[in-house]
Amino acid sequence: APTIVWLRDDLRLGDNPALSAAVEASTDNIIICFIFDEESAGIRPLGGATRWWLHHSLDQLSRTIADLGGQLVLRSGAAGQVIRGLVAETGAERVLWNRRYAQPERTIDADLKSWCGDNGVEATSYQANLLFEPWQVTTGAGGPYKVFTPFWRACKSQPEPREPLPAPERLAGPTLPSDDLASWSLLPTMPDWSGGLQKQWTPGEEGAWERLDDFLDGPVEGYAGNRDLPAVEGTSRLSPHLRFGEISPFQIWHASKASTNASAARDIQVFGSEVGWREFCWQLLFHNPDLATQNYRRDFDGFSWQTPTQSELRAWQQGHTGYPMIDAGMRQLWDTGWMHNRVRMATASFLIKNLMVDWRVGEQWFWDTLVDADSASNPANWQWVAGSGADASPYFRIFNPVTQSKKFDKEGVYLKRFVPELRDAGNIHEPWKDAEAPAGYPSPVVDLAETRERALSAYQDLRRD
Ligand code: FAD
Repeated sequence: APTIVWLRDDLRLGDNPALSAAVEASTDNIIICFIFDEESAGIRPLGGATRWWLHHSLDQLSRTIADLGGQLVLRSGAAGQVIRGLVAETGAERVLWNRRYAQPERTIDADLKSWCGDNGVEATSYQANLLFEPWQVTTGAGGPYKVFTPFWRACKSQPEPREPLPAPERLAGPTLPSDDLASWSLLPTMPDWSGGLQKQWTPGEEGAWERLDDFLDGPVEGYAGNRDLPAVEGTSRLSPHLRFGEISPFQIWHASKASTNASAARDIQVFGSEVGWREFCWQLLFHNPDLATQNYRRDFDGFSWQTPTQSELRAWQQGHTGYPMIDAGMRQLWDTGWMHNRVRMATASFLIKNLMVDWRVGEQWFWDTLVDADSASNPANWQWVAGSGADASPYFRIFNPVTQSKKFDKEGVYLKRFVPELRDAGNIHEPWKDAEAPAGYPSPVVDLAETRERALSAYQDLRRD
């Protein structure tokens, strides 16, 4: 009888424990399936940029699986129901998958597991997408960590993460009806805004490895300092590949450690701790399933957010605020589906603290536009900036976009790359100081000092209440 391997956020053949377990039993009778599920209760529909990525990632994966002699079976609908149907259709006796950690997905998986138990079907899940299970690393008192540094220290005192598993060399199974990927309409059409994404990214397992190898061959050296410079390609850009599980943290962990360059030892350590932030975010989401909708710190529930005017909100989304760092970041996001981390912090701070807009509004925009948008890192980082999160930046820390760009993009290389109107500006960081304003570039939507005071006093009110 066949074994079903149900792929979800693990669109890879290498280091895929569920697939490896199936192959170990028999390479001849495996059904590998992916289900596009927008029907199950609580599932957050993908944003535009992740839909684009998913299409291309699945397209790649189908080809790789076909090259090995197998088939990626595409189905859509409420996932639990679809798998039950597939079991009935094929007589499968085992269903294997790698674990996921958001509540709606966990509920689907738990329900399916119990159905399998009742129906004589083996269901087994594996650890694949996090180095440390969210329940594995706990404080002395047995609860989850709320602060990153001790969390990561505790992680590192755990046994070394396991070695990655090899990809199967061949695959075979029954040929089954499969949806045409195009019928899921994951790609944008009217208008097709994906040109910039296409230029920037190669979704899929091979593209992920290219990124990792390129990074370990060069930029990793100096990462600890360069990771703050948005003009430099100083980070790995692995985030969307990790988001879709085209590469696993185990593979990244061991490949970085094996990278022989001794002079990059500290850089590799810092890189590892960034991967640790991803673990921390998932751990937070696991223990706080409503992280994307509720303030982690409930005292923020009384905060007096402002309703933004349409024009203010649009200025932020489209990169027309009149603040070069904010505009460059928001345009990088729109053009490429990704934004440099430092600029993510600055743009988020601007929306939350200078425009005083509820962080959930920004989280939703990033959710829709980031190719790496995920259920844990996005809300956790938005709450970090807002000050409402765990281990959060204090509310009174307000990023000043002018100071930020002067410090991290002194020559304005990044600013000019994404805001061409500023190429001839004299005061690249403060173009409103030019005798003649740069043509086509707006004046600031809000005053930084004034809005800073407004935010601080709203925060004081919250503390008094
Ligand atoms: P690198 O510097 O090469 O880091 C390696 C990996 O570590 C990343 O790929 C990522 O998986 C992880 N990582 C690094 N920083 C963080 C962090 N602060 N939190 C969690 N994981 C981290 N990251 C996402 O993956 N998805 C999101 O939806 C997301 N939303 C964000 C929203 C805001 C407001 C902010 C401030 C940050 C957000 N981040 C998010 C975190 C971070 O900006 C990106 O992970 C990082 O910029 C990705 O680029 P990279 O792969 O080159 O990172």
